[in-house]
Amino acid sequence: MNKNRIPMIAGNWKMHLNAKEAGELALALKKGLDPDLRHEVLIAPTYTNLAAVREALSGSKIILSSQDVHWEEKGAFTGAVSPAQILDAGCTHAIIGHSERRKIFGESDEVVNKKMKAALAHNIVPVLCIGETLEEREAQQTYRVLETQLAGAFAGLKAGEVARVVIAYEPVWAIGTGKTATPEQAQDAHTFVRKQMEKLYGGDYAAGVRILYGGSVKADNIDTLMAKPDIDGALVGGESLKADKFLRVIHFQEVL
Ligand code: PEP
Repeated sequence: MNKNRIPMIAGNWKMHLNAKEAGELALALKKGLDPDLRHEVLIAPTYTNLAAVREALSGSKIILSSQDVHWEEKGAFTGAVSPAQILDAGCTHAIIGHSERRKIFGESDEVVNKKMKAALAHNIVPVLCIGETLEEREAQQTYRVLETQLAGAFAGLKAGEVARVVIAYEPVWAIGTGKTATPEQAQDAHTFVRKQMEKLYGGDYAAGVRILYGGSVKADNIDTLMAKPDIDGALVGGESLKADKFLRVIHFQEVL
């Protein structure tokens, strides 16, 4: 971490929990949170659990996020949820371009770009996910993939519009596999991402943009990841479903 950037720890609850369980987990996080915590904590429950989680989080600083957002305002888009609808559900942030959406639901960089634009037009903060597959890493394509995904996601967006965007570097081979990138591998990718952002929007922007690491982040590896200067937080899947473990991730220790 770097003291000039406020860390963010984000939990992606994916398609887990019912409304009661999600509300209870949110309440446990709210109760367990250090009231003096300086950094941001975000949770992204399933759409159907947003109301229960919103109620449980009432009076807390924890940020409520959706796991996705559609780009259209309204209409015949069965199964999709619009930016206005996620705002109405109490979300201020939206995860966009998660690798599961890219892989399972076939989302292209163009689709990701439309979602980025729609979210930003509604003042929703995108948590943009990028990352390479194992095949791409082994073929030395990591940088090319990251460059392409970033260029695609930010296409047509001006510096003034993207100020609040959070980027999550999530190597696909590390998601849900228990195989975390080493702090050095993550730092290396984050440095590259920051350089790309400098190319797109200049040095001041690049120095301020937060880049989270995601991929099998656990209570027992968060501290060493956060010790790296360009890792500004974490996007956490499995470990965010257990209150005690996620609270430990949230309250990471600074290793110098
Ligand atoms: C994720 O869903 O973004 C993720 C990183 O999952 P996990 O922590 O389970 O690897």
